[in-house]
Amino acid sequence: MARTSGSDQVGEMLAERIAALIVDTANNAPRSLQKRIGPSEVGDPCERRLSYKELDWPRAAAESDPAASIIGTGFHTWMEEAFERRQSTLPDGRARYKIEERVTVYDSPIEATAVVGSSDLYDRLTGTVWDWKLVGHTSLDNYRRKGPGPQYRTQAHLYGLGQENAGETPKRVAICFVGRYHELRVHVWTEPYNRQVAEEGLARLGRIRARLIGPEATASNYDHTWWSQIPTNELAKCRFCEWFRPGSQDLTAGCPGNAQPADRHGFESLIA
Ligand code: SF4
Repeated sequence: MARTSGSDQVGEMLAERIAALIVDTANNAPRSLQKRIGPSEVGDPCERRLSYKELDWPRAAAESDPAASIIGTGFHTWMEEAFERRQSTLPDGRARYKIEERVTVYDSPIEATAVVGSSDLYDRLTGTVWDWKLVGHTSLDNYRRKGPGPQYRTQAHLYGLGQENAGETPKRVAICFVGRYHELRVHVWTEPYNRQVAEEGLARLGRIRARLIGPEATASNYDHTWWSQIPTNELAKCRFCEWFRPGSQDLTAGCPGNAQPADRHGFESLIA
């Protein structure tokens, strides 16, 4: 049996500390603490997950590995700086690029129900709403073959609506998938901006919210039977769901997932 040297032990101890620091920092990042539903979640195919989120239901899943999310955040910062360096002025005096600006997709007097988010990039010259996705190369191939899926497509148009609400006139939405890979692989999905896609996403969210019991409800009103009536979806991304508890028989304690092969098809829920 190999003996561990004193130097190795110090290295292991330091590695554990750094890993704990990374996990703690990631779990306390503003994004992780965000309780209200954001543009990236509105089109989530699973209504049950959206209902858990809306109610801020106690999480069931173990803390997820933050590595992909951290790398994705770093990539967004890199792109932000890249466009800041390329910033230019339009003939009307406005900046060409709006970079990582907060937009309101759905305004509400009840702050918790407003839908707001940070739009990766809006190009005023072309009227294009851009969104960056850093994904694994298997996912990149899936997006290339199958398109972005309803959740990302809805997100793209929601940011279009957010830009419209901010006084812009978006013409096109685009999602740029970049492979987390040892060589550069880029795929862009794009289509004309369609406000109706965004409005349908918001209307669906409104229907999901309307099904929740009013503010007078207590946790006991949301029993297993109640949760079992909230549908899942074959496209649900259970692997990334904070309420995923394999084998759970009690939906108040966690959801066993949709048990459909679709939740293992390699799509990833990354930084949006
Ligand atoms: S585990 Fe899957 S089916 Fe259950 S709430 Fe989460 S995403 Fe939906």
